Amino acid sequence: MASKTEIHEGGCTCRHLRYRMMSRPLFVHCCHCRWCQRETGAAFALNAMIEADRVELLEGEPEAVMTPSASGKGQTIWRCPRCRIAVWSNYAGAGDALRFVRVGTLDEPDRVPPDIHIFTMSKQPWVVLPEGMPAVKEYYQASKMWPKESLQRRAVLKRG
Ligand SMILES: [Zn+2]
Ligand SMILES: [Zn+2]
Repeated sequence: MASKTEIHEGGCTCRHLRYRMMSRPLFVHCCHCRWCQRETGAAFALNAMIEADRVELLEGEPEAVMTPSASGKGQTIWRCPRCRIAVWSNYAGAGDALRFVRVGTLDEPDRVPPDIHIFTMSKQPWVVLPEGMPAVKEYYQASKMWPKESLQRRAVLKRG
């Protein structure tokens, strides 16, 4: 049973789309790759990974937009059909059961800080990471970085 403090609500800019994350995410990426920079128009993307069945749609229906990705396998970006704001993505590698929720679309994004910085090889030089913050030049192995509870949740997902 999720406690109230673990519930996060969010949505698009026009408020047609509203959703709720029913628990804390598995892990939160701050991605500094060029693809994320282009897609956000900013210096990095903040993605909260969470099981799709823990994301409840409260209002509206997002629209899938197939988008090229760095892996070449593509990603599906889910957007509000009206204002076109992206609320989450599915990547070919992780499948539909795992959503990458865009932290900036949460009502209280401050409550979901990154667990790791990835692809720091293309990090914009003015972005200075806090001392001791986990950071990798490219990608990493979940088994080495994720908390035990998240790995257990992921294992359930893979058995699905
Ligand atoms: Zn909208
Ligand atoms: Zn990226």
